[in-house]
Amino acid sequence: MKNIINKKYSLIILILAITFLFGGCSGEYLINHTSQNLNNYVIDAVLNEDDYTLDITQMIQYKNLSNKSLNNLKFNLYPKAFAKGATNKPVSSLNEQKAYPNGKSYGDIEFFNVSSKGQALTYTLEEIDKNILNITLPQSLNMGYSINIEMQYKLTLPNINHRFGYGNNAINLGNFYPIACVIEDGEFVIQPYSSNGDPFYSNLSNYLVNISYPSDFSLATTGMQTNNKDLEDNYTKTTVKAKCVRDFAAVLSKKFEVKKEKVGATEVAYYYYDDEQADASLNTAVKALKTFNEMIGKYPYKTLSVVKTNFVHGGMEYPNLVYISENLNNYEDYTNVIVHEIAHQWWYGVVGNNAYANGWMDEGLTEYTTALFYEFNKEYNIKKDDVIKNALTSYNMFTEVYEQIFGSVDTSLTRTLGQYKTEPEYVYMAYVKSMLMFDNLRTVIGDKKFFKSLKYYYNKNRMQNVTPSNLIECFKKSSNRKLESWFDSWISGKVIIKELN
Ligand SMILES: [Zn+2]
Repeated sequence: MKNIINKKYSLIILILAITFLFGGCSGEYLINHTSQNLNNYVIDAVLNEDDYTLDITQMIQYKNLSNKSLNNLKFNLYPKAFAKGATNKPVSSLNEQKAYPNGKSYGDIEFFNVSSKGQALTYTLEEIDKNILNITLPQSLNMGYSINIEMQYKLTLPNINHRFGYGNNAINLGNFYPIACVIEDGEFVIQPYSSNGDPFYSNLSNYLVNISYPSDFSLATTGMQTNNKDLEDNYTKTTVKAKCVRDFAAVLSKKFEVKKEKVGATEVAYYYYDDEQADASLNTAVKALKTFNEMIGKYPYKTLSVVKTNFVHGGMEYPNLVYISENLNNYEDYTNVIVHEIAHQWWYGVVGNNAYANGWMDEGLTEYTTALFYEFNKEYNIKKDDVIKNALTSYNMFTEVYEQIFGSVDTSLTRTLGQYKTEPEYVYMAYVKSMLMFDNLRTVIGDKKFFKSLKYYYNKNRMQNVTPSNLIECFKKSSNRKLESWFDSWISGKVIIKELN
């Protein structure tokens, strides 16, 4: 995600925020990888525009790739964060006004049936916000075996400018369907929603999705749209295939215009409304893809959709699809968010991580990769060194003010999203400090080894989930340097970051 507590991390916003402390593959997969050992999702969704609901039938062919037999399966129900009375709300009080311009509104997900081979299964909704679907299996699922689960449910969309919901210009379908919880060390990873950052963690899967909607809408999706069929009553049904992606998202709007350009085997599509500089916006997306293809390694999908939409933060990344907010302050910010979200296709999309537990891993590297974009595309007149200098100044300002008010400041990166006290605190650590860390790493090991390590990290971990130790190991090995204590001092919060005058 791109938080817009910038322009750029200003002190005024910081002080404002502190007052709130006590308030409240379709891409066909192009590189050598098998999509066969992944879960398969088949989703049929029908949008009812009159009441902003969706009727959905979902089939999951679930494969037990863990190291033990499973007696139950668990799925994340992210729409539950948007339900009335949710404890872990999708927006902080700081952003409520922006998120709900038409007043408070709630969404939900309601199940009618969960079954396997026609046999109804027992299921419960668990955790504080009933955000985990726990399905009892009819019999133990042995390692390496699969089961087909079918579910019928209804989604109610909230009127909110967020990942999931409808606004004045578009309907955002992000994190809308039950998605399997990752299993680590034989246990399901259960994490709450958080208004800080992106509280998501998932494995690669394959998707076949049918979305039926009134024909005056246009549809942007993850993956490749393979068929459009006219239905009765002026409805259109679009079929989408997406292989080897860690999530599936879609945006619908009646206002979309589309511009497209091919970059190698990838088609970049820009879905927009009200953009007088649409050609330049598409051009930035194309340049970002080309720059990162060369700098990091090839983007392995055939589609990349950059989608303007109503969204409370700057932007949001999904596989093959990114949201760009219609509410950015100026065109420079708009461009910056396009680059940031496209960089996430490498750091989140292809190389995944638990963004709830280690937000700094994808956000910090994405933010630094965005700064590198400007270094390699000088026509934007933004100097990478200035980006770093500004970040350093605002970081120091943040920690000083924080320290003055609270007596101390925790600068560790080892916290989960739920452990950061405020959104600004999370942003300064996961984005700003982590970006400074990667820039300092480049200084420590030198340009040549740094860029070699970036490529190595990407190639070694693509299509997987990584942990901090995987990242550290890659930079150590590729640079042939002992970097443990260097990383430890940055991540644990021991390092003192000061400007050199
Ligand atoms: Zn981000």
